[in-house]
Order: sequence, then structure tokens, then C-alpha cells
Amino acid sequence: MDKKFRVFATCDIGEAIELLRTRGYEVEVFPQPEAPPKSLILEKARSGVDGLITTLRDPIDAEVFEAGKGSLKVVAQIAVGFDNINRADANRYKVPFTHTADVLTEATAEFAFFMMGTLARRMWTAEHLTRDLKWGYWHPYLPFLGDEVTGKTVAVIGTGRIGLAFIKKCVGFDMNVLCYDPAYENHAFVKTIQEMNNFRHASGFTKEKAWIKYVSFEEALRGADFVSVHVPLLREGESATPTFHLFNEKNLRLMKANAYLVNTSRGPVVDEAALARALRENWIAGAALDVYEKEPLPEDSPLRDPTIADRIRLMPHFASAARITRLSTDPDKGMAGRCAQGLIDVLEGNYGGDVTKMPYVVNKEAFGK
Ligand code: NAD
Repeated sequence: MDKKFRVFATCDIGEAIELLRTRGYEVEVFPQPEAPPKSLILEKARSGVDGLITTLRDPIDAEVFEAGKGSLKVVAQIAVGFDNINRADANRYKVPFTHTADVLTEATAEFAFFMMGTLARRMWTAEHLTRDLKWGYWHPYLPFLGDEVTGKTVAVIGTGRIGLAFIKKCVGFDMNVLCYDPAYENHAFVKTIQEMNNFRHASGFTKEKAWIKYVSFEEALRGADFVSVHVPLLREGESATPTFHLFNEKNLRLMKANAYLVNTSRGPVVDEAALARALRENWIAGAALDVYEKEPLPEDSPLRDPTIADRIRLMPHFASAARITRLSTDPDKGMAGRCAQGLIDVLEGNYGGDVTKMPYVVNKEAFGK
């Protein structure tokens, strides 16, 4: 490699940084665990870096692209979601940006599944009984009971990569599945799952034959015991079917009173004030969240209301936080590896320098002929 590329990473992504350095890259890593101030990202862009490694905490918009004009060639995001990157601005400045889809699919899907079980079986509250020395007896129904997941009906909102992986986990728990996705219906996948359900039933694995089907949003919410959300954050104007506050008062009221909501997608997909009310007033039975309108979750968030604490699980944006998923330098296994490879592809002109052929670039539309 003749040219020595300069990169600024807004956070440490582990060994993948060394991998870039051994290729001759000059990589500066923001040393704190918190996100750097935007002014620092602008300063680095202005200083002529060739690439930025970013996380979902960094606002990347026209200001950043303007600051990096003439030198910034790529933004490599370590996440699949890219709602922090203004796609229209990236396109206007013709800067490709990459993401780390696929390698976090299974980790995120299984975490959503575990959150669903933890919530329904009240594991957090139950463990508190033990720890707080309040476990005084074994009793058929005191001090409380949870709800089974097995054999129940789950609505999967968004049947992209993670939604489909989540459905695969549900098969082992004999769940019925209501699918909703306005833009992508994978009927071949649904057919395969149904065939598996049929086989499990025919071979005596299950008493009831589980089913799966695509339905309308309203039908999904009305019919489900659990609702798991797997959509990107799309604000007004970014999609014909935006997802911002998709779970607002009106839609939360469609859910059954004994139903549970699980959100591992993006915080602003749920109207948190409405959700807190839904839990206080028992419109729904419970919720488990991994993502929030504002992160980290503020001290005065209505979701912290102690009166609903036993019905809401609050995770710290943790669904993809598994060792191999986050840090493997193998681009087929880890977000760090895929992030570094996305950066390398653009800077080193892989795929004949054709951005539209680079697998991890998101905004290919800006580079077509
Ligand atoms: P994907 O693009 O493969 O799937 C998203 C699906 O949502 C698409 O099929 C799309 O058609 C559908 N969709 C769009 N608008 C919709 C709407 N209004 N209603 C229902 N469906 C709609 O993305 P993915 O890889 O499955 O990831 C989904 C999202 O999960 C990411 O965008 C990211 O924000 C989030 N995520 C969170 C974590 C975490 O740590 N909590 C980890 C990974 C991904």
C-alpha cells in the first residue's frame, strides 16, 4: 500500500484497530468509553482523516461531511442500525458509509428471546425474593406467578434479518407467529417454518400444530401474547411507513391486556411516556426494553417509576453485546472485523474500486452510474 491512511475511531473496537495498524494505517482512537463531543469529530474531519470509525452515538451529518470535504472518504459504523448517519447528507457529499449487518443478527435475536422469557417468567422479581430474604415458603401461587412462553402467539414486527432469526428461536418453543412487515414479506421463509411445525407435530414432538402467517399490523397487535420489535428507526419523511413512535398510545391500546412488548430495535420506535402509562394503567402486562429514546436512560425517565418496576425490564442497549459478535476481527463473525473490512474496502479500492459492489456499504445509490 503506497498511501498511509489516517483514521479516527470514536471508540476502541479492540484488536481490529491493531489489524488496521499492521496494514500501515495511522489510527487515532478516542480513549474514553463515552462518545466524543461532536466538536472533536469535526476537528478530526477538518484535520484531513481519510476515514471515521463511528458508533450509533455519533451524529454524522452535513456538518461532518463539510468538515471532511476533499479528504473524508468513508464512514465505517460499528452497528447495523445507522439512524445516527444522515444518509441524504452522505449521498450529497458522495461519502460511502458502511455498517455491520448479519454478524449481530443471532446475538440480537437470542437476546430479544431471552428478554421475552425473563419478563414473562418474572425472573428479576423472583431473584429479588431470594436475594432480599423474602423467599419465605413454596406456595402454589404466592407471592406471584408468571406466564409461559411455550405455545403462545408472538407478533414479530419487522421480518428482516433479526426478525427472521428471532422466529427461528420461537420454533423450538412451539410458538405461533404473526408476522408484520410493510416492505418485505418473506413467504418462502414462512413456508419453511410451517413445514417444520408440521413435521414437529407429525412426529409427536408437539401436541398442537404451531402456525405462522403474515397479517396486518393491527391484526398482529390484537392477536399476540408477545410482541417483539425488529424494525429500523425511520423518521417521518424517511419512509412511507415510518417507525418513529410506532408504539404510541393508539397502538399500545390495540395489544391485549395480558400481552408483553419486547423492544430491541431503537428507542424512539416506542413512545416511552405512553408505554409508562400503559404499564401503570394495565393496558398491557409488561415490557422489556434494550433501547431508549434517550441513552443512557435518564434518571427522571417515566420508565423508572418504581410502581411498574416488576413489569418492565430495562437493559442497557446490550442485545449485540456478546464477545465474538462484538469483537471478532473475522468480518464473517464480528462487528469489529466487519467494520474494519468495510473501511478497508473503500480506502483500498477493493472490488475494482466500485462502491456499488462493496458488500458492507449502505448508501450504494449515491454511486451508481
Ligand atoms: P433489516 O433491515 O434486515 O430488517 C428491518 C425490517 O423492518 C425490514 O424488513 C423492513 O422492511 C422492516 N420495516 C421497516 N419499516 C417497518 C414498519 N413500519 N413496520 C414493520 N416493519 C418495518 O434490519 P435488521 O438487521 O433486522 O435490524 C433491525 C434493527 O434492529 C436495526 O435497524 C437496528 O436499529 C436494531 N438493532 C438493535 C440492536 C441492539 O443492540 N439492541 C442490535 C442490532 C440491531
